[in-house]
Amino acid sequence: MGLLEELAAKQIERRDFVKFCAAVSAVFGMPKAFAKDIAFAAEAATKKPAVIWLEGQDCAGCSESFLATLNPSLAELLLGTISLRYHETVMAGAGAVAEEARLKTMEEGGYVLVVEGSIPAADDRFCTVGGKSFKEVLTETAKNAAVIIAAGSCATFNGGIPGASPSKGRGVAYFIKDKPIINLPTCPVKPARLVATIMYYLASGKAPAMDKLNRPLAFYGELLHDNCPRRGQFEAGHFLQDWNDPAQRDYCLLLKGCKGPKTYTDCAKVWWNEGANWCIGAGAPCAGCSQPEFYGGFSPLYDKQDIFNGVGKSVNIDTAGKALVGVAAVGAVVHGAGRLVLGNKDKK
Ligand code: SF4
Ligand code: SF4
Repeated sequence: MGLLEELAAKQIERRDFVKFCAAVSAVFGMPKAFAKDIAFAAEAATKKPAVIWLEGQDCAGCSESFLATLNPSLAELLLGTISLRYHETVMAGAGAVAEEARLKTMEEGGYVLVVEGSIPAADDRFCTVGGKSFKEVLTETAKNAAVIIAAGSCATFNGGIPGASPSKGRGVAYFIKDKPIINLPTCPVKPARLVATIMYYLASGKAPAMDKLNRPLAFYGELLHDNCPRRGQFEAGHFLQDWNDPAQRDYCLLLKGCKGPKTYTDCAKVWWNEGANWCIGAGAPCAGCSQPEFYGGFSPLYDKQDIFNGVGKSVNIDTAGKALVGVAAVGAVVHGAGRLVLGNKDKK
């Protein structure tokens, strides 16, 4: 069955699919005409390439996020379209039959490898699949992959939450050095980012433009703090201290542990669950889940930022806020104040 027939069978209108292809090309800054290439690539992908999805030390939250997106038709369509050959959580096969599917795909080569979850660096025994260490499974599966996508915070950088456990989970790049790896951190992975990245790769045969941490610039090119709707409160020195005070409801969450000033992501612009809400919109500080420091280096998540650590418990918020604004004035660019004051040097 061709893609268009599949679309029709799944009651997805062609117009919606073309709109989606246009959105993918726009997000990566490609000319409009590129949308056509993406549509063609998706059509061609009804036969290839195959996708192997591995899970290491994870909670399957990234799979869940991807599969339970409110736009399931696209995820479903793509999973069908790109021929998902191996995925422990969703595949019908199990045991030796499942492993055989992986081995057969590996023999064919040229597949997209999606990795969810971290790999233990402390001791291989923390994560084994079918009696094999996950590190071994990853290494052998990576060998013939055309591209590797590390999906979610656990599979990237310092291993997300498992990275702070005794297993010392680490991301894919820690173990695989000779393959292109596209990092898509956040906890969990944002489904649209994963779909768009796969589509882009199918159409162009290469990774999109990335920052020095191998994150696509289209999603991780800007500091969250610069786009935060509470930024005005930050500049005014209004910092939330009491969750129960309705007057402080929309105040800046810096003192409640917000990592926005150190976090590169489009979360403030592209909200979760098809635009339903996002962390700061829901009144929670940004946990910095797209950064290498997440989780261990950023915990406790609800603790104030380093800038205030020396100030002590009796910090005068009004003074602190004014100090921040003062620095902004000296720099003549209020916009850069947070970065300056917070010593945010880990730029892309
Ligand atoms: S510190 Fe956090 S809540 Fe405050 S403006 Fe920056 S990103 Fe927004
Ligand atoms: S706002 Fe921060 S914690 Fe929330 S998803 Fe985005 S990067 Fe992660």
